[in-house]
Amino acid sequence: MQRFETNLRIPGPTSLPSAVREAGARQMINHRGPEFAAMLARITEGLKPFFGTASDPVLLTCAGTGGLEAAVVNTCSPGDRILAVSIGAFGDRFAKIAAVYGAEVTKLDVEWGRAAEPDLLRGALRAAPAGGYRAVLLTHNETSTAVMNPVGELAAVVRELQPEALILVDGISGVGAVPFEQDAWDLDVVVSGSQKAWMVAPGMVFLALSERAWRATTEARMPRFYLDLAKARESAAAGQTPWTPAVGVLFQLDVALRLMAEEGKAAIFARHAACAAAARAGLEALGFELFADQRYASQTVTAVHLPEDLDWKAFNGEVKRRRVVLAGGQGKLAGRIFRVGHLGTVTLDEILGAIGVIEEALLALGRPVSPGAGVAAAQRAGLDALTAATAVPA
Ligand SMILES: *Cc1c(COP(=O)(O)O)cnc(C)c1O
Repeated sequence: MQRFETNLRIPGPTSLPSAVREAGARQMINHRGPEFAAMLARITEGLKPFFGTASDPVLLTCAGTGGLEAAVVNTCSPGDRILAVSIGAFGDRFAKIAAVYGAEVTKLDVEWGRAAEPDLLRGALRAAPAGGYRAVLLTHNETSTAVMNPVGELAAVVRELQPEALILVDGISGVGAVPFEQDAWDLDVVVSGSQKAWMVAPGMVFLALSERAWRATTEARMPRFYLDLAKARESAAAGQTPWTPAVGVLFQLDVALRLMAEEGKAAIFARHAACAAAARAGLEALGFELFADQRYASQTVTAVHLPEDLDWKAFNGEVKRRRVVLAGGQGKLAGRIFRVGHLGTVTLDEILGAIGVIEEALLALGRPVSPGAGVAAAQRAGLDALTAATAVPA
């Protein structure tokens, strides 16, 4: 970690590699010209391996939430019965979007901190009203609780019981950081956003659609204009976007995807696994209790309980003074947990730096921690995870 730079440990936006930052400073180009068309083609190809799809993702200029809205309004109609599987704040948001546009939403609420397990979903689908559900909404990585759902297994349950239901996935904070196989898992719409695993500023979302989902767009009657994916696909065929995109963000994405291709999927996934293991071990060694069911621990963000006798404001003040930025709890978890983000350009050194600062902050507040224990545990776990992830089978 560079000593005087902020160690931004929130689950997006993430800090940017220098080459990506510099790309954002480039002079504008004509977004209806050949240079843009070539860049859009490179970006489209560069995204596909991380989604695990052979289809071309389409791009929209908006926050991640706009991508979730696009997934719903392009494939569903008012009155459609939708099962929204929620394991946290972002799952709740996805459900709300469907309800706002007139879907008949049934929620499957899972206790925060836990994953949606296949049997639970099986039960909910068996109890479906006659005619079943038009769509099932899933969160891949629930950023508010630091839980990663077993999306492939959940999708298999949907296909077993409701083969024609659309599976819409919020993959915003997971795709790009962990193995993801849209086609093999038969997911219909997968959404991701530039400010999460992609090492790019906020402003663009990417949606990959199955053939089933593209067919659904021709029948879907929810209103849409700016977020019309069929229009986006039509423009993309001509090397453009329907409306002026965030060109500066796309310059960054073009460079980031080149860096990601150079590093390679396996190395990127191993780095995330190592940083996640280090964050968990380091925080535990400092006396914090992990919030998430560890069988489904997120690889991109870690959450821990805030002890009742530790004041968040005082603790976070000590942390911030040392240039580490943590994320607090969202929604009903505000004041009850804090989170450490480890996605995008994150390195093991940055996690060790953050753990060291958290330890200093605890010591400054007079709490009993043994100096060095957090960093040592984090380093050991991080290196072990890296070795395990990169081990070549004999
Ligand atoms: C960040 C995030 C979002 C929302 O993204 P915005 O860009 O803030 O709208 C949605 N879902 C998940 C899982 C996220 O991590």
